[in-house]
Amino acid sequence: MTQWAYLKGRFVPLAEANVNILTNSFQYGVSCFEGIRGNWNEEENQIYLFRAEEHYERMQDNCRVLMTDIPPVDELCDITKELIRRSGYKEDVYVRPLAYKSSEMIGTRLHDLDSDFCAVVFPYGRHLPSEKCRAGVSSWRRHSENCGVPAGKISGQYVNGALAKTEAVRNGFDEAILLNEAGYVAEACTENIFLIKDGGLLTPALSENILPGITRASVMEIARRELGVETIEKRIERHELYNADECFLTGTAAHINPCVEIDHRPVGDGEIGPLTRRLQALYQDVRTGKNKAYIGWCMPVF
Ligand code: PMP
Repeated sequence: MTQWAYLKGRFVPLAEANVNILTNSFQYGVSCFEGIRGNWNEEENQIYLFRAEEHYERMQDNCRVLMTDIPPVDELCDITKELIRRSGYKEDVYVRPLAYKSSEMIGTRLHDLDSDFCAVVFPYGRHLPSEKCRAGVSSWRRHSENCGVPAGKISGQYVNGALAKTEAVRNGFDEAILLNEAGYVAEACTENIFLIKDGGLLTPALSENILPGITRASVMEIARRELGVETIEKRIERHELYNADECFLTGTAAHINPCVEIDHRPVGDGEIGPLTRRLQALYQDVRTGKNKAYIGWCMPVF
């Protein structure tokens, strides 16, 4: 089966989707990307792209920051659907679009450089290594608005998450939780974080230097509409991680992944909690297009 990619306005086999090492974005990380899930629905023989328009709208925002030109959202969605159809996948897939500076020249800047949009799709299952994630608070801090764009999905900024992830894994954890520069809880390396305390949902506010996750927003809406549970978006202190009843991480790749231990302390009783389980089940039905009340979030590929 040929794996397809999109590069410089053409669909090409992945083996031919290569760029020159002088490509400006390769040198400096000045690019922005998305992660979009295509969720397989067996009964309908269908792959549903989850909130693809919202992902590409976020990418458009990041491109404006980076002065990078890409096609409009509907065209990006069409390219993505065609990419999956060509590859012929009948399973859960992950789409990785990237908008980058294609000029083959060095020079740290945003202006006077050519732009390109590329994308690749591949089968993808579980993201975090365990359904019972064990996390550690990182010695690295989540970068702030003083030195970049914390709300942006900008490639170079992921050095921050990479440093934290490797520190955490080498210290025996599955994932890192980063505090922001003020010392409050921000998020995990590539997931947002939720706590459950006394039946209520808590998550760091957008002002805490987090990436505004699309899964985060979806979970908040599902919790409100389906369970009548409102989420309090606030400043969260480190000790609140240790005193939560339940904790889970959210992201396009990770879905809703329970976190059962933080800094060697069990979260609640150290098992996956009941509200986390309910939200996982609801989200699973929503993202696969089985819950028709949310079918507007699901874009059919076929
Ligand atoms: N934080 C970071 C730093 C991320 O890279 C991601 C993944 N996009 C998330 C949070 C979760 O965002 P989303 O739910 O939109 O995938």
